[in-house]
Amino acid sequence: MTIEPIVQIKDDEIPRPSPEARVDQKTTTVQAMLPVKNGDTLGTVRGFLKTLLEEDLVDEMLVPLEVPSADRVTPIVVKEPQQLDAANPLAPVMRVNAAAVLARIQREEDGKRLGAVLRPCELRAAIELAKVGRVDLKQLTLIGVDCMGTYEPEAYAQIARASAESPTDEMMRWTRQGPIAPYRLRNACQMCEHFTAENADIAIGFIGLNVRERVMVAARADIVEKIGLTASDTNGRHKAITRLAAIRHQRRAAALTDAARLVADLPSLFALVAPCTTCGECLDACPFCDTPAFTPKPSREARTQRVHDWASGEMWPVHKREVGPFGDLVALGRRAASCVGCGMCESSCSLHTPLTAIQAALGRKLQETFNYVPGRDINERLPWATT
Ligand code: SF4
Ligand code: SF4
Ligand code: SF4
Repeated sequence: MTIEPIVQIKDDEIPRPSPEARVDQKTTTVQAMLPVKNGDTLGTVRGFLKTLLEEDLVDEMLVPLEVPSADRVTPIVVKEPQQLDAANPLAPVMRVNAAAVLARIQREEDGKRLGAVLRPCELRAAIELAKVGRVDLKQLTLIGVDCMGTYEPEAYAQIARASAESPTDEMMRWTRQGPIAPYRLRNACQMCEHFTAENADIAIGFIGLNVRERVMVAARADIVEKIGLTASDTNGRHKAITRLAAIRHQRRAAALTDAARLVADLPSLFALVAPCTTCGECLDACPFCDTPAFTPKPSREARTQRVHDWASGEMWPVHKREVGPFGDLVALGRRAASCVGCGMCESSCSLHTPLTAIQAALGRKLQETFNYVPGRDINERLPWATT
């Protein structure tokens, strides 16, 4: 049986990045080792990020910052190198998918050369958003950071307050071997198979390394030259990544099998959605929520026609929608195709509905059929874009 794309839309209807905005991801990348001074891994990474501002590679930087205290880490734009003394891109916590923040910042601040320090799932979401013209890669330096997984914010704050060792230091203890006790991490992270910073202009890696001694930096040759690093090997990294990937893969397979049962037929689906309060928190938390191509929302301006609301007996104005009937289904399909598995939807759900696995189960067939990996390559066409 041939499976057709989920929706036929004309190619010229899709906003596309201009040719010069496309990144040639085959550009030579150079791997180098950053020596860690006095065993201070976080201090070394902060120092490296400062260099990017000082060497004028970027004007501003979106980076996770410890504000107002170390138990709260949020992505914020900084302009001055000294502000990076509070940066913590290694903190195992994620309150928001920063790709959504990035899209919002770029809309407001045009013309600035922005560096964005992102986790792999944020980076992949940024690439998906670039495909629909929501993120502009021309003015952007993507700085990816390896991610061993993240805790829910409350759990992170609790660990930060209760333990003498910071959650960052605790996580960094496990980088060399790869796996970490997975049950404490967010569900999305337990099943995340894309935890290294691929497709970044600059990647900061620590999985498989003794991070008290060295941290990997992989970047385009011109960037490496400008910041004065020399090429080096990354022994041990591949083995640790493979080991962690195998653990995550197993966990993902089990979660997807469970999720497939939940959406197998209409009665199962109804049972699943029955307790849902339709609060919309899951949609708002998704990095694609604010993008019409993924979430057609009613416009604020109502049309003059009115419809009868059978439940309340009142008449309501009809709102314009980006697309017609089945619009929500179309948006659901597009999100499922581009879902990067960040799990922000699930983290925001007070009912703890396993939304990450459900989205993955919904998108799996589509992604397999089109050999589509969201965020893998800016030049890879969205599966719902047809010529
Ligand atoms: S989903 Fe993956 S990349 Fe994102 S926070 Fe979790 S482990 Fe990190
Ligand atoms: S966050 Fe949970 S309860 Fe709210 S709409 Fe989403 S699934 Fe329903
Ligand atoms: S649907 Fe959920 S897991 Fe997928 S990108 Fe959106 S927030 Fe992340």
